[in-house]
Amino acid sequence: MQMKQLGKTELQVSEIGFGAIPIIRLEQQQATAVLRHALERGINFFDTANAYRDSEEKIGRALKGERDKIVIASKSLLRDAKGVREHLERSLQMLGTDYIDLYQLHQIAQEKDWQAVSAPGGALEEIIRARDAGKIRYLGVTSHSLPMAIKLVRTGLFSTIQFPFNFIEEGAALELIPLAEQLGMGFIAMKPFGGGAIDNAAVAFKFLRQYPTCIPIPGFESTAQVDEVVDFYAAPNQVEAADLDLMEDYRQELGKRFCRRCEYCLPCPNGVLITPAMGYKIVVNRMSPAVAVDFCQGPMESVANCNACGICIDRCPYDLQIPEIIKGHQQLYLEHCRAAGR
Ligand code: SF4
Ligand code: SF4
Repeated sequence: MQMKQLGKTELQVSEIGFGAIPIIRLEQQQATAVLRHALERGINFFDTANAYRDSEEKIGRALKGERDKIVIASKSLLRDAKGVREHLERSLQMLGTDYIDLYQLHQIAQEKDWQAVSAPGGALEEIIRARDAGKIRYLGVTSHSLPMAIKLVRTGLFSTIQFPFNFIEEGAALELIPLAEQLGMGFIAMKPFGGGAIDNAAVAFKFLRQYPTCIPIPGFESTAQVDEVVDFYAAPNQVEAADLDLMEDYRQELGKRFCRRCEYCLPCPNGVLITPAMGYKIVVNRMSPAVAVDFCQGPMESVANCNACGICIDRCPYDLQIPEIIKGHQQLYLEHCRAAGR
């Protein structure tokens, strides 16, 4: 596994990191096996968050005694200094460490988020204080909004930007990645599989490896998944015409219907659970129609409340025709219910 410098920081990270959401579905023993296997295979960069339930705690237990070999990134969704101080202290405790290498202000999506964190008494002044006190080595930020991410990079306050990047969500390639490179910032690619929409690991990483400064952080929940990706990185990257065709097929299939789960469209005034309803087809693909109808029952039944007011369309930065899509998913759901005898 090749090591890379994360932007201008002194952090040397493996060219792929470990996104630590999926380990919340594992028992500690399994999580320990996957995390330790990743470390043995050369992955030293672990991205977690206070919000990922017991992810930090599992990492802390699994990688106890390895602190000097790993780079830990965590984050907080809170916007105020007091809340972030509490989150940071909890993260340090759960991870069993007295410093976090990279601490990120999470999901700074809209101007109001930025105003809140950067105001007096906001989260930013607290993480700067914590960095000066040695509890954080570097400051980072995450966003799902391209204009906001560009604005955040330009502030010069952060060492890294974490943003969705995959061959369906390629927006960062044009300006954000070059700008981050130019300013010496690390670029961390969240959602390398499009949040589960891309089910072909080889093609997903062939695309990402064309951007050598980008550090993807796929989520792993088995040692086999770790091996698949690490083995893939062992060979030189070669993007063939057939790979480009396949990427294009995915884009055509998902393009104007692909929900990035950014949640800018929320809340629905009529109580529709938009994000999970938008993701119904993905759940069907990952599970089966019979399982999906139970798993998605609440969100799919909430679609009946949609009166097509269009408020969510105005809020969606990807111009998705949300009412039309969720009504289509509702039809599919009802067909699956009938087939499953519900
Ligand atoms: S169009 Fe439907 S889902 Fe969207 S905000 Fe209106 S009622 Fe809610
Ligand atoms: S529908 Fe649009 S705004 Fe809502 S979560 Fe999906 S991509 Fe984001």
